[in-house]
Amino acid sequence: MSGLWEDVFCNAQLLEEVAPIAVDSALLQGVLMRTKESPNSSDVVNFAPFTLLPSPVPRSLFEQAKSVQEDFNLLVDRLSQNPTFLEQTLNSAMKVDDFIERLFKVYRHVLDDGLSQSVFLGINRSDYMFDCKENGTTALKQIEINTIAASFGGLSSRTPAVHQHVLRTLGKSEEANKILSNNPSLGISRGIAKAWELYGSQKAVVMLLVENVQRNIFDHRCIENELWSRNIKVIRRRLTDVYERGILDEKKHLYVDGYEVAVAYFRTGYMPQDYNEQGWEARLMMERSMAVKCPDIATQLVGTKKVQQELSRPHILEKFLPDFPEAVARIRETFAGLYSLDIGEEGDQTVKIALANPEQYVLKPQREGGGNNIYGDEIREVLEKVRNTSERTSYILMDKIKPKPVRNCLLKANGQIQISECISELGMFGVYVRQGGEMVLNERVGHLLRTKATEHADGGVAAGVAVLDNPYLV
Ligand code: ADP
Ligand code: MG
Repeated sequence: MSGLWEDVFCNAQLLEEVAPIAVDSALLQGVLMRTKESPNSSDVVNFAPFTLLPSPVPRSLFEQAKSVQEDFNLLVDRLSQNPTFLEQTLNSAMKVDDFIERLFKVYRHVLDDGLSQSVFLGINRSDYMFDCKENGTTALKQIEINTIAASFGGLSSRTPAVHQHVLRTLGKSEEANKILSNNPSLGISRGIAKAWELYGSQKAVVMLLVENVQRNIFDHRCIENELWSRNIKVIRRRLTDVYERGILDEKKHLYVDGYEVAVAYFRTGYMPQDYNEQGWEARLMMERSMAVKCPDIATQLVGTKKVQQELSRPHILEKFLPDFPEAVARIRETFAGLYSLDIGEEGDQTVKIALANPEQYVLKPQREGGGNNIYGDEIREVLEKVRNTSERTSYILMDKIKPKPVRNCLLKANGQIQISECISELGMFGVYVRQGGEMVLNERVGHLLRTKATEHADGGVAAGVAVLDNPYLV
């Protein structure tokens, strides 16, 4: 499997020739990112980092990830409608984690008010790695599910053409034809358009909530442009803008700069640093409004690591999907070992197994966005410090997934052409729309493959660690 592209990687001259062709192709296809230096200007742009060649992905595991996505959509939606479960599950973490506490405070406020929103839109991405077992077999294991700001659905719609072109220039046209087409931005915009339509006001707009620093704007634009082509107006605003110029009318319609907002699509708001006090006020105002939030606050909470860990307990999935036993089995199959660090005997046992074999695990705080997890010896350091305090409940422990490394060449702006041992992470995009009690749309809408050199334990594309890739099914 790892020998797939050896003829290319062993030929330094060929690499030097093909890399610039690949980069130009990425630029032509719009696989773009703004620069670190000028993140809010498109005057000068870079290509988004990507692999020179697609990476091998076992066909059966790819199919498995596809087949379970609608199940995950349904599960996330049902969990988001169960305040008791969310409260019980996050109760210990919110006492020691200010961010979770703050999100929950917004949630409580909404629950006390009673929901104004009747249409719900979920856009999520379930991420997996291919775990290589001792007997040589590989298994699909979920890393996490992202229920807010799941990114790269736009750019990953444009990378297949790049790899197809590169393979053709290498004389591998048969392989080029096998690159899967992929268009998450189309499916994502279809979901947003459906929610917009059900909101039911022709003049209302879709509002993207964006960060102050907007390097990944082209990924957003792919989706925005699909919406415009459906004659849906799109605006981009920061949380601060909503605080300053947003209002709720007496019927809980949300207006920003005079535009009525049908759908508020969050591409920010998942990290503590995304909020100041005004940002929290803006979030609360939006949550109290009739606008379709993607995600609403409950669905954001469903995406926490603590909820993920709780779902791996016996009988929990059955409780939420009693009418879909096959879905329960499909979902459970993808779970790695997950362990609670709550205060008590079970949590004590988790501390013990982690201290005894830290290299077998990953320690995860309740954070999103990459770069927060703890590995190896550092697990020991952190656990020794917090093991006898309630602070330990802000973490969960997870089995470390160990994929078999494969060689590839990672192309980064201003980087060297260099072959690395790499591992890949497969994401599946899911979209659903619910109106009141009825699921009106539940779809899998495409995939994302990200690849990184094995020396990096953590970190995504935005952090400059992982790069965009395409699966080459084997
Ligand atoms: P985040 O919300 O920050 O994206 P993730 O759970 O996705 O958190 O972890 C970030 C990265 O850490 C992943 O992309 C993956 O590279 C690595 N990682 C996370 N969990 C595991 C695991 N169980 N085994 C191996 N690597 C992991
Ligand atoms: Mg992640």
